[in-house]
Amino acid sequence: MTRTPGKDLTRRTVLAGGLAVAGASLTGLPRRASAETALSLGDHQIMVFSDGHLTLPMNFILPDRSEAEIAALLEPHGLATDVLTPNCNITLLKSGDRLVLFDVGSGTNFQPTAGELPAKLEAAGIDPSNITDVVLTHAHPDHLWGILDDFDDPLYPEASIWVPEAEWDYWRADDTLANMPEERKSFVVGAQARFEAIEDQVSMIRPGQEMLPGVEAVDTAGHTPGHMSYVIHGGGDSVMVVGDAITNTVISFEKPGWASGSDQDRDMGIATRMALLDRLAQENTRLIGYHFPHPGNGRVEKAGVTYRFVAG
Ligand SMILES: [Zn+2]
Repeated sequence: MTRTPGKDLTRRTVLAGGLAVAGASLTGLPRRASAETALSLGDHQIMVFSDGHLTLPMNFILPDRSEAEIAALLEPHGLATDVLTPNCNITLLKSGDRLVLFDVGSGTNFQPTAGELPAKLEAAGIDPSNITDVVLTHAHPDHLWGILDDFDDPLYPEASIWVPEAEWDYWRADDTLANMPEERKSFVVGAQARFEAIEDQVSMIRPGQEMLPGVEAVDTAGHTPGHMSYVIHGGGDSVMVVGDAITNTVISFEKPGWASGSDQDRDMGIATRMALLDRLAQENTRLIGYHFPHPGNGRVEKAGVTYRFVAG
């Protein structure tokens, strides 16, 4: 992909100019926060920013299903049957003096309709250097590649970057590139380059760990080998940032047993998704889905033998 130096410089200059103002005003969530979803959870405040959206061909998402099956599922919801255009929802947690991002979006080198997070943070008066922690669900491009700026430098220079240990080990292993199908080799190259660039900022997360006060890691491997979701606890309530363990408010809920072409281990992806939906429905725990329609927060309701997403 070609770069336009002038455009980059302009953006960098604008960012730098905006930050001086933001730094002085960051005493709470920004005043313009009303444009974004805000949830309160005890002493935690949660906002969800959109990084834009992706365009994914249906035969990538549902490789094993016939056109008739796909149409029967999606048409009643008014959804296209040839492509999906999922949003990318990035959760920001403000807790005490911490500002925590869960995933960081695509950056400018993946799809042209994504990579909007830096501009959204700027518009909300949030300086990237005020982000204290970045927590990653997994290392796919739309979640990780925004960790670097247009100059390939860390975009969140002061942040501790929390990476699931199994994810870190998998993407950095010597044989991962050779074993990856051709069409996804760029995922490996991209993850390795970014992990190398942020290595000094990284801490490992293990399943069950409470790495930050009130934030608990939940093993949801399947979509990728080290995929992790996170429960934010506060005020006797909780919200789970599920990442890509549950990706679509129709397909994942109504057909959780259908293999997803985006899951690296499709069988494990199904088992993880079904267990997670069951847990969230039973506990009535709210969730935030990375690829749900923005802002992506809601609950899981049991609907016969499958499930229903209830936004809000
Ligand atoms: Zn994703």
